[in-house]
Amino acid sequence: MNVTVFGSGYVGLVTAACLAEVGNHVLCVDVDPDKIATLKAGHCPFYEPGIESLLTRNAAANRLDFTTDAATGVAHGEIIFIAVGTPPQEDGSADLQYVLAVARTIGTHMSGYRVVCTKSTVPVGTSAKVRKALQEKLAERGADLPFDVVSNPEFLKEGAAVEDFMRPDRIIVGTDGPRPLERMRALYAPFNRNHDRVMAMDVESAELTKYAANAMLATRISFMNELALLAEKVGADIESVRRGIGSDPRIGFQFLYAGCGYGGSCFPKDVKALVKTGHEHEQTLQVLTAVEAANDRQKHLLFERITAYLGDLRGKTVAIWGLAFKPNTDDMREAPSRVLMEAIWAAGGKVRAFDPVAMETTRKLYGERPDFQLVDAPEAACEDADVLAIVTEWAVFRSPDFAAIKKLLRQPAIFDGRNLYDPAVVAAAGFHYQSIGRGAKA
Ligand code: NAD
Repeated sequence: MNVTVFGSGYVGLVTAACLAEVGNHVLCVDVDPDKIATLKAGHCPFYEPGIESLLTRNAAANRLDFTTDAATGVAHGEIIFIAVGTPPQEDGSADLQYVLAVARTIGTHMSGYRVVCTKSTVPVGTSAKVRKALQEKLAERGADLPFDVVSNPEFLKEGAAVEDFMRPDRIIVGTDGPRPLERMRALYAPFNRNHDRVMAMDVESAELTKYAANAMLATRISFMNELALLAEKVGADIESVRRGIGSDPRIGFQFLYAGCGYGGSCFPKDVKALVKTGHEHEQTLQVLTAVEAANDRQKHLLFERITAYLGDLRGKTVAIWGLAFKPNTDDMREAPSRVLMEAIWAAGGKVRAFDPVAMETTRKLYGERPDFQLVDAPEAACEDADVLAIVTEWAVFRSPDFAAIKKLLRQPAIFDGRNLYDPAVVAAAGFHYQSIGRGAKA
């Protein structure tokens, strides 16, 4: 099939590359000329395991191309994906301006039947808005052309995005008729060989499913984070509690880790947007309001603990391991490290940080500043630093040389936002070690 994907970000590019890999001819359209130039030169504009080789292989086989020319994009694809950003607005609602801009572009240029498929995460009711925006453009042109709008939310995880797309748990397709559903089933058939993963439903249910999934995962994390705070007060170990409850198949082990808060481009914004959708329909979502508040508080925890230990941060330096919002990505959107670093700077302290892949993104975010140094190894972050904070659970941090770190730090203290170590082992190595939900062992 000929497929066009508007938006060459994490979701758009992974979608495009994986659809090309199974034999489709895919054209990616983006408004950012630098991004398109980078892609045309054979590079991926962000870090994602496995994506670059997929992009180069399929581009070389003429199954994948990149352009800024929207008209060419609309002419190319019988199925057109909208995979542009839906960032949060001031009031928490999803900003649909990019999605609706693409809908209008399609209406401006289309000349025959198209399936317009929304892959961006959008609130319930957006498909109707996409349909209206497109229809208005057609009407302006005096054109009467058939099209269908489909909701096909994406569930990939950054860091494992290619694998998730190639082997999805489910493929949610929201349609209001058999014709677009049949086209979507044909498109996804190669990803669907071992059993039928397509779940067909109405458009509104598909839109809500995406938010419900992210909101549920965020809820599990905030639940564990609150319980971790209680565990500290009552002398329990949240890791034992996690194992104890995760073994119940009704609960399961996934997404039960206590830590220094969730970040990323999806959970924070999707929880906010769902709460806002609730307000708009006079249906208060109390659980999710609390989930968000608990997470905001949790993101400040490391800073509170570090200041409680160090006192005045002026003249002090905090070493930070891990900047990305989670391992295996360079994405810094809503990363807990940002809350920590910005709080340290506001208190007059300095930061020396290391991340295996997110340092370039961090540099672009904060630029050069006298109270910030990025270094090229975990140990180097500890040199001339007072204490160490661990924010992202990269594999490289899992088995450090505690003796070497102790020599480098001015004060032997580790504030672990990801519960990477056995508290008894770190305490035996002579550290003040504070993790989440397991008490302080000095
Ligand atoms: P992103 O910010 O990485 O990429 C969006 C791209 O769209 C940018 O390159 C931007 O230049 C481009 N764009 C904006 N307007 C455009 C237009 N009119 N025409 C063509 N391109 C345009 O975003 P992302 O992380 O890929 O997320 C995209 C959507 O998918 C969001 O709604 C997000 O919530 C959802 N989503 C993201 C993930 C994830 O893990 N990142 C997972 C599932 C769903």
